[in-house]
Amino acid sequence: MTQISTEQLLKEWQTLLDNTADSIYCCAQQLAQQYAPELAQSFYKHMLEDTTAAQFLSHEQVQERLSNSMQRWIIALLSLTRADDLRPIIAQQKHVGDVHARINIPVHLVLRGARVLKETVASLLSGHAQQQDCLSFISALIDMAMEVMSQAYSASHDKNSRAEESYRLFSIAQNSAHEKERQRAALLDWENQVMFDIAMGLQFSQLNTLSASEFGLWFRHKGAHAFEGSNETPLITAAIETIDNVTLPMFKLVQTEPERHQQLLRQLHEQTRSIAYHLETLFAQISELESGRDVLTHLLNRKFLPVVMSKEINYARQHERNFCVLAIDVDHFKIINDSHGHEAGDTVLQQLASLLSNGCRSGDYVFRLGGEEFLMLLVDVTASKAAKVAEKLRVMVETEKFRLPRGMTLKITISIGLAQYIGHPDPQKLLNRADAALYQAKGQGRNRIIIAE
Ligand code: GH3
Ligand code: MG
Ligand code: MG
Repeated sequence: MTQISTEQLLKEWQTLLDNTADSIYCCAQQLAQQYAPELAQSFYKHMLEDTTAAQFLSHEQVQERLSNSMQRWIIALLSLTRADDLRPIIAQQKHVGDVHARINIPVHLVLRGARVLKETVASLLSGHAQQQDCLSFISALIDMAMEVMSQAYSASHDKNSRAEESYRLFSIAQNSAHEKERQRAALLDWENQVMFDIAMGLQFSQLNTLSASEFGLWFRHKGAHAFEGSNETPLITAAIETIDNVTLPMFKLVQTEPERHQQLLRQLHEQTRSIAYHLETLFAQISELESGRDVLTHLLNRKFLPVVMSKEINYARQHERNFCVLAIDVDHFKIINDSHGHEAGDTVLQQLASLLSNGCRSGDYVFRLGGEEFLMLLVDVTASKAAKVAEKLRVMVETEKFRLPRGMTLKITISIGLAQYIGHPDPQKLLNRADAALYQAKGQGRNRIIIAE
């Protein structure tokens, strides 16, 4: 999908404004200021007639907030003049599109709202001296806004669907397991064949090199790309080169020295084994990634947060259930890294991750958001029940002796921000409330739980 660039939009929008007379600006602006509440109301009245829309907009908080922001949107849009910087208004439309995607409002409903809006504007303008020009100006503005909004919506929506897709893959068999076995077998086949050829006294020039073998070709053309950026990739590349350019040619030189010959065979075997070992590690990481798990802690990766949140919000709405999220952050984690090293920090994170997973029910979700930040989603609980779980976790962490390398142990604490789902369809709102509570917990001295309003 090609995207119209922001620059292009800016130019087109600017042209529209440049070609509009001052009197038309005035007319649009006056209309917006005078009738913003009526316009917002007609927009929602028609949207609510649609049963799908009603599902998204039934929450009173949404209606109140949306009506206010809708009025502001109308006034901002219809008050534009050629002197204005258009970037903020374009950014605002993108933001609205993102929000619509997050709460899954279908695009056709928004377009329907826009149509109704234009009809209402037309009837409000009837009899006005510049009725025609003013209406076409306002319609063009609304169309522009809708275009930017829909573009942002599709982009966000695609991203969500991709995450959804990998989330689905997580629960079905993974192809990488098959590929791993195949490449392991190809590597061992090559080793067996070359050992046999050497035993049969074949000349070095007749031996099949590893890089020309099935495994070597796969790794060079596919594996190295697929695993780009991982530590193991250069190690495997180097090992292949060493085998082909150093170890294999040596056989020519030691043919008459049985002991050196045997030693060299062992060396070749070790080098092949190290490749197999790195390969195993690579695939293990890939299957973690593919399955949506965080590589270090095996918790859920943050990219699935929107998918899981939407799923749980829908469930809660349909079944009138509650759920809560806990935003969890390790206190003064930087000091642990600084005084014990990053690797020690990593092992602490791993142990904390398993404490958290074991401290909740299997229906709950634990995400690693990144660094030393975690998020738990506790299904089917209200804030008071969730607060008990949070307190249990806090105490568990506080009393745990975290093991460091070389037999040392360490104490840590966590701060938790708790927010209960209160019916707002936008997952981000809930996360923001939990974050704000966490921030308060830090501010009040850490190692504590704050419940969001
Ligand atoms: P606060 O109590 O305010 O949360 O203090 P803090 O030191 O935990 O907070 P801050 O966010 O400033 O520092 C987080 C540190 O976490 C910074 C970084 O060194 C460390 N960190 C982030 N990701 C990782 C990781 O994957 N492994 C390790 N070992 N450390 C990480
Ligand atoms: Mg942090
Ligand atoms: Mg921290």
